[in-house]
Amino acid sequence: VTGDGALVVATLAGGYAAVCTRWPLAKCRPCHGSGKLPSPTGRAHRRCRRCQGHGDRLRFGARLFGGKR
Ligand SMILES: [Zn+2]
Repeated sequence: VTGDGALVVATLAGGYAAVCTRWPLAKCRPCHGSGKLPSPTGRAHRRCRRCQGHGDRLRFGARLFGGKR
């Protein structure tokens, strides 16, 4: 029974690694890829701290699998 589980895990890990090397950048979630967040006052925007205003962020897995950029 454990063999099946290991196979599934290996398949998922392989797929994730492939996605991470193919598309290392993911859309930043807090700012929805815009790089800006609405300020508390709602009148201006401020730069998203999570992605430094780029709007996308490096996937966690990209650092593990695709360190050659
Ligand atoms: Zn962001």
